[in-house]
Amino acid sequence: MPSVKRRVKQWASRGADRHVRLAVTGLSRAGKTAFITSLINQLTHLGTEPNLPLMQLVQQGRGLGARREPHPHMHLPAFDYDSAMQALHSTPPVWPSPTRDVSEVRLAVRYRPQSAALRAINDMATLYVDIIDYPGEWLLDLPLLSQTYSQWSAKQSGLLTGRRGELAGTWTTKAAALDPFAPADEKKLAEIAADYTAFLHQCKAHGGLHWVQPGRFVLPGELAGAPVVQFFPWVGSDNEQDLAKAGKDSNYGVLKARYDYYCEHVVAHFYREHFAKIDRQVILVDTLQPLNAGPAAFHDMRLAVEQLMQSFKYGKSGLLKRLFSPRIDKVLFAATKADHVTPEQHPNLVSLLQQIVHQAWQQAAFEGIDMRCQSVAAIEATTPGYVSVKGSTQSALKGHLADNSPVTLYPGEVPAQLPEDAFWQDQGFDFPSFRPQPAPLDAPLPHIRMDKALDYLLGDKFR
Ligand code: GDP
Repeated sequence: MPSVKRRVKQWASRGADRHVRLAVTGLSRAGKTAFITSLINQLTHLGTEPNLPLMQLVQQGRGLGARREPHPHMHLPAFDYDSAMQALHSTPPVWPSPTRDVSEVRLAVRYRPQSAALRAINDMATLYVDIIDYPGEWLLDLPLLSQTYSQWSAKQSGLLTGRRGELAGTWTTKAAALDPFAPADEKKLAEIAADYTAFLHQCKAHGGLHWVQPGRFVLPGELAGAPVVQFFPWVGSDNEQDLAKAGKDSNYGVLKARYDYYCEHVVAHFYREHFAKIDRQVILVDTLQPLNAGPAAFHDMRLAVEQLMQSFKYGKSGLLKRLFSPRIDKVLFAATKADHVTPEQHPNLVSLLQQIVHQAWQQAAFEGIDMRCQSVAAIEATTPGYVSVKGSTQSALKGHLADNSPVTLYPGEVPAQLPEDAFWQDQGFDFPSFRPQPAPLDAPLPHIRMDKALDYLLGDKFR
């Protein structure tokens, strides 16, 4: 090929290559690991036998294939796709182990460009998709950036009512007995911080309460055991002016310094290093588990989701805009594990999620971020069908429980509106955990609407 033509072709090919940083988050057990595993799996089958009928790229026959590439940030762990697939292909299949920290994977997706002009020069283009997985709990820390240690302490103390109050006994008793002005007792502070961390874990595990701060305490990753995750809210009754005079080596001074360090080096660092570089965001929400668990868990999930959404309200004068100039232009809210309910309930699931995100949605739309809600099952573990009950036909799900026993059931109705008291009084909603279905090694994983999610998140990039 003459060199001018070759250079034009190289230039055009570079122009045709695109790059998108897609982040996936959600509270722990929302389904991030399953979602990313399925996303990679679906795209790697793009060129052979795609199971993505709702993706326009597939409808137009332009998808050529995808493969994993070495990911660009060597200091970040790679998303462990191979182990996840191994778990799903074991006998019997099991769910992949969840990731507990930030991780990353890069996919190169090959496709035929849509534009005839681009096709004339090069009939192939590549979209590089960097998928970043991070715990939603980290977004719960955003308010810390605009609160002093004293303000944060007052806010946290105010939350210690109801179930939270019951669980808080141990650390609050010890913390209230601390002398703020005495020289810092490192051992004591570490002990109370450990009790406070245990309390946050208990809130999640036993109370179904997900709105916990600081988020890194429950998912510390590489920070585990470091002094920066060894503080707790001040619950003593001393007045604020006196506390402000506490020396920097006192109990209060050390706790305040750790809080400030945490805000700057952990929270702000995350927003600067990761969040500010994201182009598109998926927020996974498990609405079904809190419906199963009861009103307190459901209310708390709403609070946590509202709090997560604060990170996307970054209008012109917002804190985020001032600090980090984020550039996210699309957010997908996905109600996960839709295969836990029968198909006619899926619209209710979406409607419920829409109500949960409604207010913040309006705000973000106003600021020019495109948002969408949908339901999804990243890895479909059940088969929908019908059963006959007393002569009438009823929709049902078939699957296997974690202990491998087969089961057919009707899990109940998902409320289309935020549930009111009556729903909780005669709650007919109950479902078990299903294990994944066995899937052939060379076939894409079964899913519900992953193609719709992918079309929304990436469709416009396959030009
Ligand atoms: P993470 O903590 O957000 O990474 O959550 P995981 O992806 O590990 O999911 C937590 C659990 O939810 C899994 O172990 C499964 O039991 C369940 N799960 C996740 N996705 C699905 C799904 O699409 N269908 C079903 N039936 N269960 C799911």
